[in-house]
Amino acid sequence: MIVKQIFTEIKSAPYDKKIGPDPSSIDSCMIGGIVSNNSSGMCCGVAQNTYNTIKDLRLIFADGTVLDTSDPESKRAFARSHGYLLEGLSKLAERVKSNPDLVAKIKRKYSIKNTMGYSINAFVDFEDPFEILKHIIVGSEGTLGFIGIALFFLFFSCYSLFSCLFSLSSFFSLFLLFRSVLLMIGIR
Ligand SMILES: Cc1cc2nc3c(=O)[nH]c(=O)nc-3n(C[C@H](O)[C@H](O)[C@H](O)COP(=O)(O)OP(=O)(O)OC[C@H]3O[C@@H](n4cnc5c(N)ncnc54)[C@H](O)[C@@H]3O)c2cc1C
Repeated sequence: MIVKQIFTEIKSAPYDKKIGPDPSSIDSCMIGGIVSNNSSGMCCGVAQNTYNTIKDLRLIFADGTVLDTSDPESKRAFARSHGYLLEGLSKLAERVKSNPDLVAKIKRKYSIKNTMGYSINAFVDFEDPFEILKHIIVGSEGTLGFIGIALFFLFFSCYSLFSCLFSLSSFFSLFLLFRSVLLMIGIR
């Protein structure tokens, strides 16, 4: 299903919500690509990019193992069969967090759009190895596993927003305009 259809379907549901990422490729891109590229867009910026709005993933790894991060039983089974992997992620996170300079650099680099390489900010942002794994998958370009299902947190859609262009003679006119708009929407 292309992402444009998802937008339309959520919009027509009674909730009037949308997913965070809004890339310009929305007419043709797929949800697996959105997650694997950590897509963002002109409206969502970093705050509502894929990394920050992903809720859960159903993943298929190269060895055929399936992990559904929304299912506690699936997580327990994965912890039994792939405990070494979760442990490795936790150790990596500990290593990163023990280096304050590296933590500061990662925070700085990911406070703006950054889709270079893996989402290593997951090592700074999370303690739970399942959360680290889920967020490392975001932006991993399919190199770590196949995404079968992606669940997103939803946001109120902005379809009723309008934009317009004003030509004003002075900065004071701009002030008057803002004041009028604020009064119109009930802010005094
Ligand atoms: C014209 C254009 C405009 C764009 N505008 C923006 C923008 O405004 N903002 C922005 O952030 N990005 C933008 N992008 C990049 C954007 O992130 C991608 O277009 C889109 O998210 C990728 O989706 P896709 O379905 O085309 O994926 P593809 O290009 O097909 O795949 C992308 C990667 O994901 C992997 N992949 C795909 N599906 C899966 C899956 N199910 N499981 C695992 N891996 C998978 C592929 O192997 C590939 O490495 C733009 C790109 C284009 C071409």
